[in-house]
Amino acid sequence: MKTATFHEQREEMVQTQIVARGVVDPLVLASMREVPREEFVGARYHEFAYEDSPLPIEEGQTISQPYIVALMLEAARIGPADRVLEVGAGSGYASAVMSRMAGSVHAIERHRTLADTARARLTRLGYDNVTVVTGDGTKGLSQSAPYDTIVVSAGGTEVPEPLLEQLRIGGRLIIPVGHEPRTQELLRIVRTGVHSYDRDALGHVRFVPLIGTEGWAKDAHAVSPRRPGPTVEVKPGGRDRLGHAIAAACEPILDQETASLDALLARIDGARIVMIGESTHGTSEFYRMRNRITRELVMKQGFTIVAIEGDWPDVAVLDRHVHGKASAQECRDAFARFPAWMWRNRETAEFIDWLAAHNLRAGSADARVGMYGLDLYSLGKSIAAVLAFLDREDPRAAEAARVRYGCFSPWETDPATYGRATASGRLEGCENEAVTMLRQLLEMRLTDPVRSRDPLFDAQRNAAVVREAERYYRAMYYGARESWNLRDRHMFATLQSVLEHRGPKARAVVWAHNSHVGDATATEMAARGETNLGKLARHAFGAAAYLIGMGTDRGTVAAASGWDEPMRVRALRNSHPESFEALCRSSGVPRFLLPLRASRDPALREALAEPRIERAVGVIYRPDTEILSHYFQASVARQFDEWVWFEETKAVDAQEGATEDADPGTYPFAL
Ligand code: SAM
Repeated sequence: MKTATFHEQREEMVQTQIVARGVVDPLVLASMREVPREEFVGARYHEFAYEDSPLPIEEGQTISQPYIVALMLEAARIGPADRVLEVGAGSGYASAVMSRMAGSVHAIERHRTLADTARARLTRLGYDNVTVVTGDGTKGLSQSAPYDTIVVSAGGTEVPEPLLEQLRIGGRLIIPVGHEPRTQELLRIVRTGVHSYDRDALGHVRFVPLIGTEGWAKDAHAVSPRRPGPTVEVKPGGRDRLGHAIAAACEPILDQETASLDALLARIDGARIVMIGESTHGTSEFYRMRNRITRELVMKQGFTIVAIEGDWPDVAVLDRHVHGKASAQECRDAFARFPAWMWRNRETAEFIDWLAAHNLRAGSADARVGMYGLDLYSLGKSIAAVLAFLDREDPRAAEAARVRYGCFSPWETDPATYGRATASGRLEGCENEAVTMLRQLLEMRLTDPVRSRDPLFDAQRNAAVVREAERYYRAMYYGARESWNLRDRHMFATLQSVLEHRGPKARAVVWAHNSHVGDATATEMAARGETNLGKLARHAFGAAAYLIGMGTDRGTVAAASGWDEPMRVRALRNSHPESFEALCRSSGVPRFLLPLRASRDPALREALAEPRIERAVGVIYRPDTEILSHYFQASVARQFDEWVWFEETKAVDAQEGATEDADPGTYPFAL
């Protein structure tokens, strides 16, 4: 593959790191397109020159993240005749960019070696309207004052008074200020009169410390003493502090098809299980992003298991189809129960088509990708599947099985009533029958073990579903916690059995709702004594389980208004102002990946570990009671390893989509 030229990389940097994060000033964008960042870092960092991050320069300092430079320069509103002062010239890069926008730039740097290098570099590259001097910039540079713009590229403890004094009336000072050496608020201060200033906060940033008379002492622990300064009026404004930190720490994407997922794949590398969650069961972008990530994991990291929140026998039809053993029509007939649209939709169909083509090319059976259903709402279908298997393999055992499973016959279409009657002691129940059948299938030895290995496994899993469904419907009688836990434990046990079946090297992608995937210990589920797939996976696999959550602010969503009611495309309201989703919205970045486990900003990670409300829409959406029905408390940074955000989304493209029968489905959770 041809490597991109610096020019191409610069263009991509502007598009994906700067424009995608909401910087629009054409002069800033043009100047960032022009200045060769690779010239401002040492030769060993050339290949990283257009990375979305700060890079080391001499004297233990850094050249700032390109986006932060763009953000500061946009906030500075630099005009073509402006006289600019930069405090903290470092490599000279930001001064070079400003020199394209302003009349002249004076830059001051406390490290002589850095100042000398920057000066020589700027001269060599022809930036002849920049003057670099060595000195303590917290005192400003009085000989060239006043300035229309002052940009401080290091984090101070307070706003240095000399800088305020050296600002022309109408001039703008951009400076990061904070009481910890590496965490600051980015401020814009506008001089409105001889003694008056306005200021607004632009968000949370991380700069190296501003060291000097009016900044940090040399060891960056003690604050240098300062005199009281002029009163500065604080105006609210700009993005939310955390929203801004999200903007700086995230990886913006344009859409799910073109997004570069290389960084995500590097973070996932080595994981045995990747769980991809969604905050609704009816959002197209979630399906497509999940498809995309899964395709990459299959192609680039050899994942061979796709396990989904669907019923085992229905997903088995998809699995046969992607192995060329079932027709497209058979696939369309699967997933008949409410909520049919969850899997009967164009997005899923596209993935299935891709997977079928992939498997055709894959060669060995081990390399082919299988699809597996984790859920347990298929009592009737699973009984039928076990009987069909025994009819083929052992007709005498099939006869006995018919008698045993006959116990369920009156209840197959109404297992909830079965559960109630059994749990209350009015009915003896079929537990023994279900347990015996599972045991028999697990002990079954076949005459042709190679040919029958997969069909036997399928029958065993169906027998396990029958047994767990029997327990599930009884547990429902005791309450939501018992049945929820039973269901998630069943899903996890199924996943483990699939991993075992596919061999010690097999790796799995799991698709389920965020409330199954995000670690329950980090949400209010923990207080209710509930577990889930994410928690069980972390417990069993530690760091080899990678949990991804996906969320949205608004748009449309496919959902029903009540149980067994038809699917409708409904408006999804803006997320609640107190929610985690509102924070994502305030980042101003419309679509992004946000690494949480490997966050580039530990302070942000800490802030996102605070509990906040998060939205969960299952297959039912009740906008009228949204806050009660759809929000729960969660510490998102502990719940997930990565968060994927689509600010505005649309409903999944459901094929006929409508309800076809009245099985009890996922009642009572709707997730
Ligand atoms: N804008 C620079 C660039 O594009 O390379 C990056 C600057 S770096 C983040 C911050 C710089 O501020 C460091 O080089 C540091 O030595 C300098 N610095 C810190 N305190 C200073 C002070 N009081 N006066 C001048 N420079 C200072």
